[in-house]
Amino acid sequence: MNKDIATPIRTKEILRKYGFSFKKSLGQNFIIDSNILRNIVRYANLTEKSGAIEIGPGIGALTEHLARNCKKVVAFEIDGRLIPVLEDTLSPYSNVKIIHKDILKSDVAKVIEEEMQGIEDIMVVANLPYYVTTPILMKLLHDRLPVRGFVVMMQKEVADRITAEPGTKDYGSLSIAVQYYTTAEVVMTVPKTVFMPQPNVDSSVVRLIKRESPPIQVADEDFLFTVTRAAFGQRRKTIFNNLQSGLPKGKEKKQQILDALSACGIDPSRRGETLTIEEFGKLSNSLFPHFH
Ligand code: SAM
Repeated sequence: MNKDIATPIRTKEILRKYGFSFKKSLGQNFIIDSNILRNIVRYANLTEKSGAIEIGPGIGALTEHLARNCKKVVAFEIDGRLIPVLEDTLSPYSNVKIIHKDILKSDVAKVIEEEMQGIEDIMVVANLPYYVTTPILMKLLHDRLPVRGFVVMMQKEVADRITAEPGTKDYGSLSIAVQYYTTAEVVMTVPKTVFMPQPNVDSSVVRLIKRESPPIQVADEDFLFTVTRAAFGQRRKTIFNNLQSGLPKGKEKKQQILDALSACGIDPSRRGETLTIEEFGKLSNSLFPHFH
């Protein structure tokens, strides 16, 4: 087996060879500990028949672990300086395809169709660039990709919000958006010391497994997210006040909101963070006829 990329010595060697300097603005914190990578891959439950989509391969530290454990890896990297580096570091692996593109501007479903033909089990596995964790996750969930799920590293604070339960301080519209599509759990916390350079924040690895069907049937998904965003507009305000200021204009808005809350058995003086996903689903269905 080839020498791992994810050691301090090998990483420094590669960076020196290419005169590479980290760009903080691209969230470049590379992993220099193979144990962490082995665990990330283990949590993805890949087989030799699986495919992996990676976002931000960097110099290929996680990519090579994926390549050794599945049939095909497709990795999206935004930084053109890393493309020749990856061609070099990943040259021992014939099952890796690097795409030089911003993930947020990529048609990932089309890439999967083209690059992963005949592969039925696909996971997204990544050490995400922290400055765009939420937009990346929301895009990939919204795109309804044909994947089993995600095992992704992110800043601990976002991981806590994603996996939060109702009634806790971290519970919010992000928890609901992610938990609507997936079951979410933190599988690992990761110290700063395993990165080069070390980030300012702690990290967690989150596993998201796509639900077969959503936990609630809603009339309109986008409207559900409009309602949840409005409901958490100002955390100290009541659900009624937040919906009043957050929902689009309407003639009889006040009464419609009160009627919808009453129809769902939700006390208008409750705060958004106490509502379960099911309650938000019912509420958005009651409000939907008046606000679209
Ligand atoms: N996977 C490597 C590792 O674990 O050592 C690097 C992870 S580093 C946290 C994030 C990587 O994402 C960097 O290589 C960065 O250039 C890349 N990146 C940042 N923004 C991106 C975007 N919008 N699309 C694709 N890649 C991006």
